Amino acid sequence: MKRYLLHIDGAAREPRSGRWFDTQNPYTGESWAQIPRGDASDVDDAVQAAHRALTQGPWAELTATQRGALLRRLADLIARDAVQLATTEVRDNGKLLAEMQGQLNYIPQWFHYYAGLADKVQGSTLPLDKKGYFAFTRHEPVGVVAAITPWNSPLMLLSWKIAPALAAGCTVVVKPSEFTSASTLELAGLFDEAGFPPGVFNVVTGFGAEVGTPLVEHPLVAKISFTGSDSTGRLINEKAGRHLKHTAMELGGKSPNVVFEDADLEQAAYGAISGIFAATGQTCIAGSRLLVQSSIHDAFVERLLALARTARMGDPMRPDTQVGPITTPPQYQKVLEYIDIARSEGATAVLGGERGRAPECGQGWFVQPTIFTNVRNDMRIAQEEVFGPVLSIIRFENEADALRIANDVRFGLAAAVWTKDIGRAIRMSERLQAGTVWVNTYRAVSFMAPFGGYKDSGLGRENGIDAIREYVQTKCVWINGGAVAGNPFVMR
Ligand code: NAD
Repeated sequence: MKRYLLHIDGAAREPRSGRWFDTQNPYTGESWAQIPRGDASDVDDAVQAAHRALTQGPWAELTATQRGALLRRLADLIARDAVQLATTEVRDNGKLLAEMQGQLNYIPQWFHYYAGLADKVQGSTLPLDKKGYFAFTRHEPVGVVAAITPWNSPLMLLSWKIAPALAAGCTVVVKPSEFTSASTLELAGLFDEAGFPPGVFNVVTGFGAEVGTPLVEHPLVAKISFTGSDSTGRLINEKAGRHLKHTAMELGGKSPNVVFEDADLEQAAYGAISGIFAATGQTCIAGSRLLVQSSIHDAFVERLLALARTARMGDPMRPDTQVGPITTPPQYQKVLEYIDIARSEGATAVLGGERGRAPECGQGWFVQPTIFTNVRNDMRIAQEEVFGPVLSIIRFENEADALRIANDVRFGLAAAVWTKDIGRAIRMSERLQAGTVWVNTYRAVSFMAPFGGYKDSGLGRENGIDAIREYVQTKCVWINGGAVAGNPFVMR
C-alpha cells in the first residue's frame, strides 16, 4: 500500500508520532493508502515554518509580480498532472472521474486568475483633512493562513483558498479531510517543483481533534479559512473568537431550486437532477429542496422521475457512470437515517429510498437516487442538510408562497429560479436569501464569481476579485510633511 508523508518546510516528512492511518476507496471499501497521523507537534513545526517563510525567508522578499509568476508555474504543473490528481481524488472520495477530472482541468484557472491579481492589490492616497500630512494605505498579507478543507472536492475547494492567499503574500498550513488527504499531499510536491520557497505551503494530515484544534489555536496562525459543516464551523469560530483570529467560513446548505409553471420544463428537469444527483448529492450547493408550482407539480414530477430512473450507479472511474458511492461510512449511515426520518415524517418516496445493491455497485457505499414528494417545509428532511442523493419536493401556489418557503430555512448558500418571466427572475433574485442565485441554470461556479453564504451558510466570500481582500490587512501610513507640533496633550 502506498504510504504518504507530511509536507513541512519544503520537505516530505514522517509524522512525529510515527503513526499512519488507512484511507479507503468508497467504491471497493478497501484501504488503498496510508496517511500520516499528524499531531500538535507536527502542527507546530508547520506553523513555525510558515511563519519563518512569511517574515524572513525569500518569500517575504519577492515582489507581488514574482509571486504571480510562481503561481502561474504551479498552475501549469497542476494542468500537467491533472489526470493523476483526479484519479487520486476518485480513489479517495468516490466521486465520478468525469467530475473530478473536470475540476482538475479547471483548477489551474484559479492560480492564473490570482497570479494576475497579485500585483494589482493597490492601496490609495488619502485626500486628508489635515494640512502638512500625507497618508496612504498599504494592503499587507494577513499572516499565516490555516486552510481546513472537507472531503467532497478536496483540491478545488483548497484552490479557492490558497490561490488568493498566496497571491496576497500569505503562507499556508493545510489540514485536509482525514477521508481525502492524498491529493493534497500530492499537490504539495508541485510547490517544490514550481520553485516556491520552503515553508510557504505546508500540509499536516490527521484528525480534527489532533490536527485541526491545535492548528486553530496556534498563536502564530492569523486566519482560518474553513470549508465544512456548520457544526464544525461554529466550533472553530468560537475558538478563533477567543484568540481574536480572522475567519472565513464556507458551510452547509439546503438550497431551494424553484420551478415556476412558465419555465422551460425540460431544462428545469435537467437542472433539478444536476442539483441533487450530481456528485451523489455530496455538494454544499445541492438543490435539495425542489419547490414546484402546484399547477405543474404532477407532470413535472413525472418528467423528473423519467429522467432520474435513467441514472446509472456504478464504478466512478467508468465514463458512463452517473451516480457514484457515498464517500465515507458515517456519511452513508447518515443519508440512510435521513431517508428513514423522511418516511417517518410522512413524506412519500417516489424513487429509490434504499441502499444501492446492484451488481455494478460492487462493495461500495451506495444509496439509490431518492425522491420524496409530499414534503412540508417544516419537516427535518426539508430543513437539515443530508449531503446525499435525496431530493425533497415541496409544492407552492404563487410567487409569494415560493419566496416564503424558499427563505424559510436557516441556510443561505445558493438558490435557483426557473422561469421565462424576466420580471419574476429579477424579483426572485433580489429577494432570495442566498449568496448565489442562479436563473435558469444550476451548479455553475467560476473563479471570477464571488461565492459564499448568507445566514448559517457562512462568513466571507471566495472567488472573484474581492476574495484577495480576505487575505490582506490594511495599514494606513501617515507622513508629516511639515506640520508643526502643537499641544502634545491633545489629538492631532
Ligand atoms: P466537517 O466539518 O466534518 O470537516 C471539515 C474539516 O474540518 C475536516 O478537515 C475535518 O477534519 C476538520 N475538523 C473537524 N473537527 C475539527 C475541529 N474541531 N477543529 C478543526 N478542524 C476540524 O465537514 P465534512 O463532512 O468534511 O464536509 C461536508 C460539509 O462541508 C457539508 O456540510 C458541506 O455542505 C460543507 N461544504 C461546504 C462548502 C462551501 O463552499 N460552502 C463546500 C463543500 C462542502
